[in-house]
Amino acid sequence: MEGGVTISAALIENYLHSRPRLVRWIEWLAGRRYRLAHFGGRRTPLVVIAHSFRDSSTSRQVALAAEQDWSGVPNRCREAYDEILFSAPEILVLQLRRKNLCGCLGHRHPVVGEGPFAEPHEAFGGAGIGEIDIAWRRVETWQALPLTDIAFDAQFLDGTRREEFRAHQFRLKTLSIMLHEINHLVAPQEPENAVLERSLSFYRDTLAGYMEETMASLSLTIDRSFSRLE
Ligand SMILES: [Zn+2]
Ligand SMILES: [Zn+2]
Repeated sequence: MEGGVTISAALIENYLHSRPRLVRWIEWLAGRRYRLAHFGGRRTPLVVIAHSFRDSSTSRQVALAAEQDWSGVPNRCREAYDEILFSAPEILVLQLRRKNLCGCLGHRHPVVGEGPFAEPHEAFGGAGIGEIDIAWRRVETWQALPLTDIAFDAQFLDGTRREEFRAHQFRLKTLSIMLHEINHLVAPQEPENAVLERSLSFYRDTLAGYMEETMASLSLTIDRSFSRLE
């Protein structure tokens, strides 16, 4: 790393805070907020989730997907993206939107447009900065694997379980789209079908892993309630 700067959440927070008060006020009044997240135990890329104050709870879900769900997915799913995350920019700005006019789930941005990160700053010590966007309302309704999604959904007929499933599913979809766009960022020449195949496999396998775990805990609960009837 150039300049001996170690990218961390504290460093970014200090930088954001060190900007002129007027700039920060204008940003705050415009509703712009930043939330920071790592991929599990990885130091980089540090994800800066740029969002509107109205989407604060969704931004928390996105952070949870990177920080918590990433660590919980099967090893081979993480390994498929090891190299890609290793080559990713150290600071990754994720613009969280409700929708994109073009209807896409997400994009990689050829240049960083998010105000505080658009220009190199000495605080970053020459660290790489990249940017992507994700349209979360589009992600919510996106059927990544129509048949699997419906089959899994049908297994959770009772309300609370189904909500839990859908929340988890949303986070896994978001995670797979993040990885898809980072893949584009890191390897712009890799053809779309290869990038898509990798991210869909990631989603398919992580969802299957989650289902396996959930069904196991579910049948455990059923066993217990049966034994209570005896
Ligand atoms: Zn588009
Ligand atoms: Zn793509």
